[in-house]
Parts: sequence; structure tokens; C-alpha cells
Amino acid sequence: MTFRSKAFEIAQGRVSPVLTPPTEKVADLYGSNTFSDDVMKTLLSAEAYTKISNSIRSGSTIDREVAEEVAAAMKSWAISKGATHYTHWFQPLTGTTAEKHDSFFDLTMDGKAVEKFKGSALVQQEPDASSFPSGGLRATFEARGYTGWDPSSPAFLMDNGAGGKTLCIPSVFISYNGEALDYKAPLLRSLMTLDKAATGVCQFFNRDVSKVTPTLGIEQEYFLVDKALYYARPDLLMAGRTVFGHNPARGQQLDDHYFGSISPRVNAFMVDFEFEALKLGIPVRTRHNEVAPGQFECAPTFEEVNLAIDHNALLMDLMQKIGDKHNFQVLFHEKPFAGINGSGKHNNWSLSTDTGINLLAPTSKPKENLRFLTFLMNVVKAVHDHADLLRASISSAGNEHRLGANEAPPSIVSVFLGGDLTNMLEELVSKGEITLEKGENFYYKLGISRIPNLQRDNTDRNRTSPFCFTGNKFEYRAVGSSQNSASPMIILNTIVANQLLEFKREMDERLAAGEEKKVATVEILKRYYLESKNILFEGNGYSEEWIEEAAKRGLSNIRETFDALYAYKTDKTISVFERTGVLSSRELHARYEIELENYVKKLQIESRVIGDLALNHIVSTVVKYQFKLAQTARSLTDLEMLEEAEPIKEIIRDISSHVVVIKKLVHEMTESRKKANNIEELFERAKCYGSEVKGYFDEIRYHVDKLELLIDDEDWPLAKYREMLFLE
Ligand code: ADP
Ligand code: MG
Repeated sequence: MTFRSKAFEIAQGRVSPVLTPPTEKVADLYGSNTFSDDVMKTLLSAEAYTKISNSIRSGSTIDREVAEEVAAAMKSWAISKGATHYTHWFQPLTGTTAEKHDSFFDLTMDGKAVEKFKGSALVQQEPDASSFPSGGLRATFEARGYTGWDPSSPAFLMDNGAGGKTLCIPSVFISYNGEALDYKAPLLRSLMTLDKAATGVCQFFNRDVSKVTPTLGIEQEYFLVDKALYYARPDLLMAGRTVFGHNPARGQQLDDHYFGSISPRVNAFMVDFEFEALKLGIPVRTRHNEVAPGQFECAPTFEEVNLAIDHNALLMDLMQKIGDKHNFQVLFHEKPFAGINGSGKHNNWSLSTDTGINLLAPTSKPKENLRFLTFLMNVVKAVHDHADLLRASISSAGNEHRLGANEAPPSIVSVFLGGDLTNMLEELVSKGEITLEKGENFYYKLGISRIPNLQRDNTDRNRTSPFCFTGNKFEYRAVGSSQNSASPMIILNTIVANQLLEFKREMDERLAAGEEKKVATVEILKRYYLESKNILFEGNGYSEEWIEEAAKRGLSNIRETFDALYAYKTDKTISVFERTGVLSSRELHARYEIELENYVKKLQIESRVIGDLALNHIVSTVVKYQFKLAQTARSLTDLEMLEEAEPIKEIIRDISSHVVVIKKLVHEMTESRKKANNIEELFERAKCYGSEVKGYFDEIRYHVDKLELLIDDEDWPLAKYREMLFLE
């Protein structure tokens, strides 16, 4: 019995764990594991509560006394709920979350046990930073790094199983010199800058707006694979994706998985992690089967960006933990299986004011629509001017497999606005007026009397656009499923903030020169529209024609990650980031290096896995099978059944031809890897990996996948696609 068949048998025999769903209503259990506003109201003095609320709302600094009181309240709340430890919970540039637990337990001078948690421990901690990526921001001897409490994201209790609970305190992570070593620090800076810039522009339209909050709803796609089969795939285990595997006879061509009925086993997993997520204050709402077999999606209600990103990072961690309980491995890789859809993370982003306006929602009032158009066009202009940087923000070894693979947006950044809006902008340019009205046009007349008229959205969907307007928000669809959304959001927030500052500067200039406000706005927007029009695309973003058309329009189509990342350190990027104070030139260079290094490491691991699997799993198995065939052929020859022996010999030859090529290619790949590893300069090393080493992956795969069709099914060592993808 092979490891694979044992694994398959185990997977077939799975029974979902018995769940006892909570008896409370969702509204009652929501956030019950968070140190929420309600908890603070109950446990803090009125003065401390007001101070911390202000800090959350307006970013004012919390003084030590308040921190002391909050720490005491957090401690008693956490201990009453069964916590024994606390940790600063942060997001280093590894792409995962990090935690280092300390016990509340401590000893007094006279050796008595007490439970302690001081304000100073809440506000700041000092983990050894030397093993986190810093991109050269920190020499090894300067190991110090600091984590600092982010009061705007509620502390929460993480259940570690076996009864242990830890109080997790969302934090930023910086180096000894104060430079950002994480995603949260620059994200918070970008949110502050965007708030200021957007509020400034709002003042032209609504004087009462004093704060603009960017909002984000993250749709998360993922695959589920049975744990046993996962362990029977060293490539999934090591690299997160299958490097070999022939397509099953049935893949996604019947489109029968998308929105299909959810299997009981998968449903049990979803129900379980959703309840835990809700307790952690993660507002998960939507679940469905995705296009590919074995693929699913989960989407929350949108929140303020910082919270949405913390919640997504926490959700990914939680899904993995709950997955273990259900014997599922959750695959967040962008392309775990070739030949079927990969996974993305759609970032739905908008701007909302403290007066309750969604700045990206059109209305029926022409005056308000000028404000809407202002924000819309500033976003389009920012995306147009910094398309390469947005492209860089979603570049990784994993996402490279997905972008432009006929199922995901291409590596060309374009914006979809929809017909009605485009008409409106054209009208603005030709007449200087806009007349969008929500009238007759916006309702479908179905002619079925029982069904009420359905309201028509003011844009259709375009699933092929990387950055599309969806009626009241933009959806950045090209983000990779395994990525921390902070990188694209830091960039989007910053380029939009920069653009809004520019818009305001020009408006102020024109108003000072005596121009009328509406005229000035329309004039600027007209120009923005004409300047950024070439990035607007309504057609099929997956088509070959678009690639040609985009080239004619002069849009970049950067295919390789190592090239795409360059945008992080151009003068243009540095000047925008320094002007807005989000990242310094040194911090940008560091991020560039970390991403590039990450790319090299991922390819290095994949290449090693490919070599190992090809030689030690595939070729070795195949040779044994060949021996069996050879024995059969010899017996037939001994019996003078030469004609009957011939087809068997044919298979032996076929197999040999693939084995010979595989051996040769693996050898060459190893040599090119050695060559790459010896290149000192990081970009050149990444380029060598991306353009030489990686080139062997698909070639080797081609021959291995052919062998999968030639070898007795019983002997094949790796779990097959059909076994992993069709979960019951
Ligand atoms: P669709 O199915 O068309 O993608 P949904 O209404 O399901 O649209 O929304 C997808 C995601 O967009 C959800 O996470 C939702 O919360 C989020 N979303 C909706 N409105 C906003 C908004 N104003 N800002 C940010 N995200 C939003
Ligand atoms: Mg959607």
C-alpha cells in the first residue's frame, strides 16, 4: 500500500467533529472575545474611557496613567475569561502574524505568586527583532525592536487549544531607530495622511466633515484539502502549491462548483470558524463555493481599513487552526493547482466621512455628484499615475502564477468604471455638466407581475478588471490570496492622498485667482479625465486583444515579479512617500529588498522540491514499474509472443524517454540554481531565479505529468488532483 492510498483511505473515512453551536444569537456573541467598547465602558472610569475613546477616534496619545488603568482592566477581563498569558500581536514582513507570549504570573520579592500586567507592558514591548526580515534596516548586532500598542484595534483573546488562552494586543513593530519593520506602522501613517487630504477636499463640498475614514471589505478565497492527502503531497507541505499533477478528466469546465451546494463536511468547517471569528469581532457574512473544485470564499462586512486588515490576518490564522480540527488544510496559495482557477483576495475599498457620506457613492443630486466625481477621478488619476507601484504591491512568486493566467486579471493595471459613469464623464468633458439621475433607467422592468421591479446597479460587474468600480466602492481584485492586504492598501491610500493634496493645491490656486468653485472643479476633473483616460477599460481584461490594445496605449505590462518590484524605489515613488510621510526612502528600499528576497527564497524552495520529487519519488517509482513491465515483456518473448510483447516494450520506451529528459532537466536546473545562488547582487540573483531556474519548472512538470498517465495508478506516489479536489 502506498502512502498515497493510505492517505486516500483516511480521507474517505473522515467524519466531521460534532459541533455544539453557541446558543446565543450572533448579535450576543459578536465580539465576546474582544476587549470591546462595551467592556471598556463597564470596566474603566469615565475619565479613562473618554480618553481612550478620543484616542481611538482622533489618534490622540494616551498618557501613562490611562494606560495603567486600561492594563488593569484588560488583565482582570482576560483572566476572568480564562487567559493565562498576554502578547503583543503584530504583522512583521514575513507575511504572517507574530506573537511571543508572556505569562501574567510573576513572583514578588518574597517569592509569592501574583498576577501582573502593567501599563508599560501594554504600551510597549521589546521582542528580539533579529530574526525578522528588516531589508537591511537593522544590522544583526542591533537586535532590538519594539512593539507598540495600537489602541484603535481591540485586544482579543486567542484560544490556543488545551484550555490555554492568550490576551493578544494588536501592535506596530519598529526597529531601534524607529523605522517600520511591519505592515501596520506605515498603514496607520497612510490612513492618517489620507484622512487629512480627503477631509481637505471634502471642505470644498461639505464644510461639516472633519474626518474621512477609508473602509475595506476583504473577500478571501481559499482551497481546502484533506490533511492526510496534504501530507501525501510534499510539494503542498513545502511550497504551498502542487508542482506536479495531471489535470483530472473533470475540472471546472462544467461550472458546477461555483455557488453550488456546500458539502456537509465543508459546511461544518465554515460554521465552526465563523462562530469563532464572530466572537473575535470579525464580521464574517458571506460564504460560498468558488469556481474551482475544492475552492471557497469567505467575505466579511467592510470595516475601517486598519481593523479590516487585522481581522483578515487573524481570520487566516483562525481558519488554519479550525481547519486542523476538521482535518482540513486550508490553502491560501494563489495557485495551488495548475489548470484550474487560483485564489485572490478582493479588496473592496471606499472612503466614508464622519457625517455618514460614502464619498464614492453617486447620488441623484447633481451638486453631490460633483463631489462624487471629484473623489472618483482623483482615485482614477492616482491609479493612472502610479499603476506600476500598484502592480508592485501585489507582486509575489505565488501571484505570478495567477495574474494573466486566463482567469485572473492580467498584469496590466486598468480601471473599469462601467458604461453609465463613462458616459457621465464624457458629458462632463463635452458639456461641462452632469445629469445623472436615478430614474426609469435604473429599474429593470421584468414583466413578471409577481416579482417586484429589480433595481439596477449603476455599474455592471467586470470580473476581468484588476481595479473596478462597483457602484459605491472600488474593488482591487488582483491582490493575492496569501498576501497581507496592507501592502496594496498602504500604496492605494498613499497615492490617493498624494493626489488629493495635489487637487486641493490646484483648487486653492484657482480660487485665489478668483475662479468660481464649480468651474474650477469641472476644469480640473476634465483634465484628469483626459490625462488618465488611457487606463480606463471596459472590455474583457483576460483577452489577447486587450494585451495588444494596452501596448498601443502605452500601458505597462510587467510580467515578472523581479521587474515589477522595481517601482518601490523609483524617484517618483520615494518623493510621494516622503511627501506624505508614509515611508522613508530607506524604508522603501528595505521593503523592496525583503520582497525580492522572499521571491528568491520561494523559488529556491520550489526548485528543491521539484528536484526531490522528480528524482526520489517519481523517477524511482517509475523505474520499478518499468522493471515489472520488462519482466512481463521478457516472459512474453520467452513464450515467443513477440507481437504481444511489442506494446509493452513501447510503454517502456515511452517511460524511458521521459525519465531521460527529467534527469537531464533536473540536473540543469540544479546547476542554474547553483549559479543563481552565487550571484551576490540581489536583483541579478532574483532575475536569474525568475528567468532561468523557474524556466525549468514547467518543463519538468510536463514530463512528470505525462508519466502520471503511463504508470499503473496503484503505483503512483503522489496524491492525484481528482483525489484532492473533490471533497465529500
Ligand atoms: P460583490 O458581491 O458585488 O462583490 P458585496 O456587496 O458582496 O459585493 O461586497 C463585497 C465586499 O465589499 C464585502 O466585504 C462588503 O462588505 C464590501 N463593501 C461594501 N461596501 C463597502 C464600502 N463602502 N467600503 C468598503 N467595502 C465595502
Ligand atoms: Mg465580490
